[in-house]
Amino acid sequence: MKRVLITGAAGFLGSHLCDRFIKESYYVIGMDNLITGDLKNIEHLFKLKNFEFYNHDVSKFIHVPGELDYILHFASPASPIDYLKIPIQTLKVGSLGTHNCLGLAKAKGARMLIASTSEVYGDPHVHPQTEDYWGNVNPVGPRGVYDEAKRFQEAITMAYHTYHGLETRIVRIFNTYGPRMRLNDGRVLPAFIGQALRGEDITVFGDGSQTRSFCYVDDLVEGIYRLLMSDEAQPVNIGNPDEITIGDFAEEIIKLTGTDQKVVYKPLPTDDPTQRQPNIDRARAILNWEPKVSRAEGLKITYEYFKNLPEEELYKKEHKDFEAFSRK
Ligand code: UDP
Repeated sequence: MKRVLITGAAGFLGSHLCDRFIKESYYVIGMDNLITGDLKNIEHLFKLKNFEFYNHDVSKFIHVPGELDYILHFASPASPIDYLKIPIQTLKVGSLGTHNCLGLAKAKGARMLIASTSEVYGDPHVHPQTEDYWGNVNPVGPRGVYDEAKRFQEAITMAYHTYHGLETRIVRIFNTYGPRMRLNDGRVLPAFIGQALRGEDITVFGDGSQTRSFCYVDDLVEGIYRLLMSDEAQPVNIGNPDEITIGDFAEEIIKLTGTDQKVVYKPLPTDDPTQRQPNIDRARAILNWEPKVSRAEGLKITYEYFKNLPEEELYKKEHKDFEAFSRK
């Protein structure tokens, strides 16, 4: 049985990856410090003989007994609200956390895949974004803690690849959605659906002309799986190129949920990228991958998930006590 370590296992993407590797008959070791993750996302795995969980902060030395074939490093706050609230942890998990994972991968002879992000392109001047674009990032803006941690993460991963000969994979993940997103993490999709479910106005930031391209989580997981199994050490964009303005997206959510609330406009957050769309030619060519789930299908499934959450989740102001973690 091949053994895989997944950091950020209790998070949105991490938990879906755990499911996928369990389905592929791996022995899965999940790791998370539960700052933004939630055990609810993986509790269905606890009864399995081929799953175990470590409550550990990967920014500190990681000890895992036994062999490891693969490490997938998905631990990180990933919503702009989260990394505004816990900027130091965001920097640490992308830098120290990645260094620890790389050291572990080297010691175990494991192949390592890191979760990078379209945020490495910043507010891009090249559209759609290709992997050879270097980006336009403000290091000292509010997003800098995430963007620069992820850029450092790519750099140190590439250094381990070239200097130590470690087998490494870098996925640049574009906006992804699906069940197990946190309802109150501030991201646009759960924000809009949460507002519709609570009967509140839909808050569009700026004039709504900024664009995003949303990928359904199952498509993303398939792309990541293929990348891990490939020979490609250069970064690969995984995302859905179907681009939409946030204003039009708000209208789609209003139609989907049948809410009779109206759109209200709020100030655009600092350094909010004006456009984002992946160029996925490399993924198509190397991985024979492209997304299969349309936004209409994916949104329906995701809306069902949010609708069926216990009502108190809807009114929870914040999922976690960030303050308590910040003092650690
Ligand atoms: N956004 C919005 N209303 C909200 C939350 C977000 O209009 O209630 C906008 C946000 O300004 C950004 C886009 O939606 O332009 C996507 O934001 P998100 O936080 O989901 O992720 P990002 O892609 O910016 O990292």
